[in-house]
Amino acid sequence: MASAANHRPRKRFGQNFLRDSSVIDRIVSSIAASKSDHLVEIGPGQAALTRPLLKPAGQLDVVEIDRDLAARLSDDMGHQDHFRLFTVDALKFDFCQLVASGRPLRIVGNLPYNISTPILFHLTKQRHCVQDLHLMLQKEVVERMAAAPGSRIYGRLSVMLQIAWQITPLFQVSPASFFPPPKVDSSVVRLTRLTEPPAPIKDELHFARIVGDAFAQRRKTIRNSLKNHISATELQALDIDPIRRPETLSIDEFARISNFAEGIHHK
Ligand code: SAM
Repeated sequence: MASAANHRPRKRFGQNFLRDSSVIDRIVSSIAASKSDHLVEIGPGQAALTRPLLKPAGQLDVVEIDRDLAARLSDDMGHQDHFRLFTVDALKFDFCQLVASGRPLRIVGNLPYNISTPILFHLTKQRHCVQDLHLMLQKEVVERMAAAPGSRIYGRLSVMLQIAWQITPLFQVSPASFFPPPKVDSSVVRLTRLTEPPAPIKDELHFARIVGDAFAQRRKTIRNSLKNHISATELQALDIDPIRRPETLSIDEFARISNFAEGIHHK
């Protein structure tokens, strides 16, 4: 059986283990778990966060893809009756199946950087059973998530997450806090599920298609990139200048386009 000391970090699973106790303490106190909370940790690894989260949590479920690490976690914590281990790929995992007695999940993870965008979309799809997320991500990803319209880094990720979550960047973490140190800076971010999107959206799938098409070629005007959905005259009627670029559009403006185009050109 692999021990923590001799586990060789696996690059393919994005393994950069937290080693800095002050960062671990800060994450744990930002989560401020209580006995009424149902926590879920993605990628517990060597349990740097799992151990301090286990005591305060009412229930702690963990999802780990690496079988060697999962075997260790099972040896260390498997006997705790408020702990469950799932040795699966979080990208394919149905988080909502974990919910018991209607209590929404509080999901936590120091995530592998190579899967951060797909995980964010996967969790956003399942957000109806989630209260909040506390995630360690690449600093640039957190900046893009929280970016405002008009910013160079505002894009599909910003819009599609901001309709679902209130995004609060918490603090930055340097590579020296991990072993092995990653090549990038990291940030911890809190996403709290919004009960209502910031603008009314009739059909979220259609909204996602409009946003995806608008940002597919950032340098094109929306008149060009959205021509299959809405005409220049129709954009003007919505009080949106057709020669604008997608990064200047607010969520409310994307919602107006999507709600209008849905009625007219629904495919
Ligand atoms: N939480 C630990 C920490 O903070 O030290 C480990 C963090 S490490 C950056 C990422 C962890 O996620 C590793 O344990 C890795 O094996 C696991 N992992 C990677 N891809 C995964 C996936 N698709 N599903 C579940 N766990 C995954």
